[in-house]
Amino acid sequence: LGMPSVPTKLAERRKSRQIQVGTVAVGGDAPVSVQSMTTTRTSDIGATLQQIAELTASGCQIVRVACPTQDDADALATIARKSQIPVIADIHFQPKYVFAAIDAGCAAVRVNPGNIKQFDDKVKEIARAANDAGTPIRIGVNAGSLDARLLKKYGKATPEALVESALWEASLFEEHGFRDIKISVKHNDPVVMVNAYRLLAAQCDYPLHLGVTEAGPAFQGTIKSAVAFGALLAEGIGDTIRVSLSAPPVEEIKVGNSILESLNLKPRRLEIVSCPSCGRAQVDVYKLAEEVTAGLDGMEVPLRVAVMGCVVNGPGEAREADLGVASGNGKGQIFVKGEVIKTVPESKIVETLIEEAMKIAEQMEKDGVMS
Ligand code: SF4
Repeated sequence: LGMPSVPTKLAERRKSRQIQVGTVAVGGDAPVSVQSMTTTRTSDIGATLQQIAELTASGCQIVRVACPTQDDADALATIARKSQIPVIADIHFQPKYVFAAIDAGCAAVRVNPGNIKQFDDKVKEIARAANDAGTPIRIGVNAGSLDARLLKKYGKATPEALVESALWEASLFEEHGFRDIKISVKHNDPVVMVNAYRLLAAQCDYPLHLGVTEAGPAFQGTIKSAVAFGALLAEGIGDTIRVSLSAPPVEEIKVGNSILESLNLKPRRLEIVSCPSCGRAQVDVYKLAEEVTAGLDGMEVPLRVAVMGCVVNGPGEAREADLGVASGNGKGQIFVKGEVIKTVPESKIVETLIEEAMKIAEQMEKDGVMS
C-alpha cells in the first residue's frame, strides 16, 4: 500500500484578475509581491527617496507613501519619477490628492472607503482620470475606519462588514466601468482578517492585498502576519502582502519575504538550519548560529547552511544542506554537499563556514544559480 502522492505546493492560487502596478503585475499568475510604506514625511523628498532606496535594497517591490497634505501631494511627481520601484499614494480624505497622485504618475492610488464618503460625487471623475492614466486603485478597508453605516448595521468590524464596505466601494467604480482595482480588508485580529479575506475571495475576482493592520511591535506583528498570511496563502488567497510592524519598514520587508520564502512562494535565499540545542549539545549553538547568520548576512544565493550542536542529528542535517557543521568534542566537522571536507577546532568553526560559504556562493553565481 503506497502513500498517496502529495502536491509540492500548498494550494492552487485563486484566479484573480491581473492589474499592473507600475512595473509589477499583481494578481493572476504573477508572483505574490511584497510591499511596505515609508515613515518619512512625503514632502521631505530626499528622506523619502532615501528610505525607498533602502527598502528596494532589502527586497521591497512596491512602496506606499502617505499623502495627507498639499506639500506631500506636490512631492509625489519627483518621488514617483526617481523611485526604483512603483510608488502608491495613500490617500484617506482628500479627493483632490487622488487627482494629484494620478497626474504625478504614481503607479497606483490607495483610497479608504470609510473615509471617503465625500468622494461619492467624485467617483466618476476619479474613475475617468485613473482609467485615462492607467492607474489602478486599491480599495483599502480598515477595521478602525469602517463606514459608520456598516458599523451600525453589524455592531462592529466583522468580516461581513469589512467585505460589504469593500464591495460597495468597488461597485461605485464599477458603475463607471472601472475595474482596475485591488482590495484589502484589514483587521488587527488575524482570525477576523482571515475570515474577511476568505469571504471577499469568494465574492470577487479582484486581486487581494493582504495585511493585518496595527499588528503591533516587531515580534507580535511578525507572528500575527505570518499566521494570517500563512493561512490565506496556503489556500491560494493573496496577491500582494504588506506586513505592518511598529518597527522600521525594512523589517517589514524582511518578514514579508521570509513568509513567502517559507511557503515556497519565493525562491529561498540564505537559510540557516540550526538546531534548538538540548542537553546533548557540545557547543553553544545559539552563539554559533548567530555568528554564522551575521557573517553571511546579505548573501544573495539560495544557500542552506546547517549549524548543529552535536553528532545525533548533526551529520544527517549537515549532509542535507549545501554546507554544515556538526559539533562534538570541541571540534566541528565541516560538510560541503554531504561530504566531510575537514574537521576544525571549535574556535575556527565560524570562519571556516563563512569561508566555505563564500566559495560555494561564488560557484553558484558562476553557474547562474541566483534567487
Ligand atoms: Fe540536541 Fe544535538 Fe539535536 Fe542539537 S542536534 S537539538 S544538540 S540532539
